[in-house]
Order: sequence, then C-alpha cells, then structure tokens
Amino acid sequence: MAPHRQPCTPAAHLTLPPPPRPILAEQPSKFILLEREAEEEYRPQILAALQSKVEAMAEAVESQPPQCAHCCLPMGRQDRRTVGWLARCGRLRVRVTRYRCGQCKGERRPLLEELGVEPGRVCGALARLLAVLAVVAPYELAARLAKVLLGVNISAMGVWRVTQRLGQAAHHYSEALSVYHSDSRSQAVTSSSAPVAVVLAVDGCSLGMQVQKQRRRRGSESLLPPLPAVEEGRFREVKTGVLLLPEERVESSPGRHSLVHRWLVSCLGNADAIYAQVWAKLRELGWLGVATVVVIVGDGAEWIWKRATLFPCRCEILDFWHAVEHAWQFAQCHYGEHSARAARWVHTVACALREGKVQAVLKRLQKMRLQTPEARQQRQALIRYYTENAHRMRYDEYVRLGYGIGSGAVESAHKQLVHARMRQAGMRWSEAGAQRLLALRLLLLNQDWACLDRLPMQRII
Ligand SMILES: [Zn+2]
Repeated sequence: MAPHRQPCTPAAHLTLPPPPRPILAEQPSKFILLEREAEEEYRPQILAALQSKVEAMAEAVESQPPQCAHCCLPMGRQDRRTVGWLARCGRLRVRVTRYRCGQCKGERRPLLEELGVEPGRVCGALARLLAVLAVVAPYELAARLAKVLLGVNISAMGVWRVTQRLGQAAHHYSEALSVYHSDSRSQAVTSSSAPVAVVLAVDGCSLGMQVQKQRRRRGSESLLPPLPAVEEGRFREVKTGVLLLPEERVESSPGRHSLVHRWLVSCLGNADAIYAQVWAKLRELGWLGVATVVVIVGDGAEWIWKRATLFPCRCEILDFWHAVEHAWQFAQCHYGEHSARAARWVHTVACALREGKVQAVLKRLQKMRLQTPEARQQRQALIRYYTENAHRMRYDEYVRLGYGIGSGAVESAHKQLVHARMRQAGMRWSEAGAQRLLALRLLLLNQDWACLDRLPMQRII
C-alpha cells in the first residue's frame, strides 16, 4: 500500500521522515555581492564627477548676466543661494545666482534654465525613469519597482508628482502640435515619397472620472469618508486613432494580418480633438501627399464619418465585423437565439458582403417572409443600416486594394493604450491626470519616449 493511504494515526505519522525545511543561502551569491560592492564604490565618484561638471557649467553661465525675458534689458544680480535637486546618483548642491529686472521685476536663474532642473525636485534621467515605471504600473507599484530596479526610496505620491510634471509637458506639446497644424500657415513635413494610401481606424471607450474636482486631503484627525460610487455621467470617452500603411500589413499566416508598425493618437475629448490630432500626426509624418488616399475604418458612429470630410481624398469603410454583428441581431430575432439556422443565415450574408454584394443581400432581405412584427422591425433597421452604409461596404474592392476591412488594429491598440493601465479595478481619473498619463503612454507605445528628454518638465498647480 502506498504510504499516503495509511491511516494517519500519531504512530504512523512519526514513522515517516518530516519534509525538510527549504533553506535560504546565508548570503546573496558572490557575484551579486561583487556587483553591489562595485556600485557602492563608484556611485559617490559618479556623483562627485557630475557635481564638478555642473560647477564648471555654473562658472561659464554665471560669467555673463542675462537679459530680461520680457523687456530685454540687462538684469541685475539679486542674490546667490545654494540650491539642491535629486538625480539618479544622488543629491546635487550648487550655488545659483538669481537676477532681477529693475524695470519689470522679473527674475531669472540662468544656471537652472540652462540645466533644465528645478530646485528641490527629482530631475533629469531619474525623473524620466520614474515616469516610465508609472506609465506601465499603478503609482503604488511603480514606487516599489523604483526601489527594486533603481534602488530609490520614493513614495507613490513622489512618483505621481514626477509623472504629472512630465505628463503635462508631453500633453502640452501634443496639444500645441495640433493647434499649430490646424492653422493654414503651418508647414507639413514634405516627403517626396508620400504613401499612396494611409489607413486610419478610430475607436473609443469610457473612462471612470473622479467626482471631486480637487484631490482629497486628509485632515489631522479625520478619516476620509468612503468614495461614492461612480455616478451616471461621470464617464468620459477616450478616443484613439491608429495610423498605418497598408503595405506594412504582413500576412503572418493565411488570412491573419499582423502589423509591422503603427502610430497611435489619442485624447480625452470630442471628435474634433481626435481628428485634429490625426491631422497633425499625418502632417508630422509627411504622410499626406496630394494624391494620398486616407482610408477611414469605423464602426458606423456618426462622428467618425462627419469629420472624415476633412480628407478630400478618402475611402470610408464600415468595419466588417460591425456589419456582420447587425445581421446577427436580426437573425436571432427571426430564427431564435442560438439557433443553427441563424448561424447559417449569417454565414451566407457575411460571405455575400465579403464579395461586395450588399445590394443582393438587401434584395434577399426584402423578399423574406417574416412572422412577427418585431422581426419586421429588426429587418427595417438592418435594411436602413446597410442602405446608409452601402458605399462603405465594398469589401471585395478594399481587400483587393490591401486596405483591410476590419478595425481590429484599433481595437487592440486602444486596449493596449488605455485598458492595460487606465481601466484597472476601481481606477478613477481627474481630467488632467488622465490626459497626462495618456500623453506619456502614447510616447512609449509610439517609440517616441526619447522625445521626453527634450521637453522641459512643467510645473503643476
Ligand atoms: Zn524686464
């Protein structure tokens, strides 16, 4: 008999050897110890080297007084104080001169401007590293990752602050680009090889927003009351657009297309805002040639088509799966839910649509004999939907041209961009907080993160 089948009397139990306790090594591995030793030895040296480079720059910058940013008059020396900030290798301290304009009383500290740092704050590469953690993980977890990965002790609130300041910079930059390109005097990137066609797919989802306008602060003795449930109407729609070149779709297996590269734009705003972003991105990429066809794939939402007229040279496509979904609704009403006949009927309709035979489908629908008023009503709805969108349902042609027929690309991109970080359980956002994080996630997913090094952090009030 196998030992575990024996009755578990105290005597039987004692005859078996006890399971051994797992053992942790007394120390980390020798190599880990060496790595840490080297780091501890050189970290102060890196800090000292950085400190002396900063001081050398201070000397060069301080040698000439600046001009006032407003009235361009030379400014007078006001005071000279020690200022510190936190960098990857430790805290830097340097004497900084403050200048003042006698005319308009404006102040400047040219050294800090030149360095792109703010006194008392996390600056430089460390700020960018903390932000990248917060862009992929919630703030609490990002703070823990900062300890593990960077050896930095920082609170979730500290990570939040850095992220807001960099996020504001990224958001501000993308908004300004939109405004710039929506002006007729703006310059687009001109490319001799503008693509023949560009695919634009658009999607949206809702984001739970904070009920309070202000962040909640706890008083000294009172506990925070529980948060109220999200009220109706406390949602905002995040809209995402995906831009890609049809020829970059590669067929990874028969019938399955995966993308080499795509660009995302997104915003927490109205339809005009997302189209302004799309417009700006296309002009920045040099993708809008005189003959470039903009292929717009959408789910039939009115706002998508209304703004599509922004592109005179366009091809509108109703997402194939939405077209089929509408057929399902009617089929289930007519043939019964989960019925095999409904499935067969939808399959036939889908095949006909794929071949571009929307008129034939419409004719067949009209000829059908229907029993219930409800089914007749559903049929009318389906006929109206297909008739209104017929010019966006020439799927055979779209496949032949390589445009694709579904908005799967945008749905997955949108999930990656928004859901993965911003729609986790219980998350609610302030408008500014959501916009800043979206702007940073776009930089990361568009492989534009390095652009953050060239943006000054913004103060947040
Ligand atoms: Zn002045």
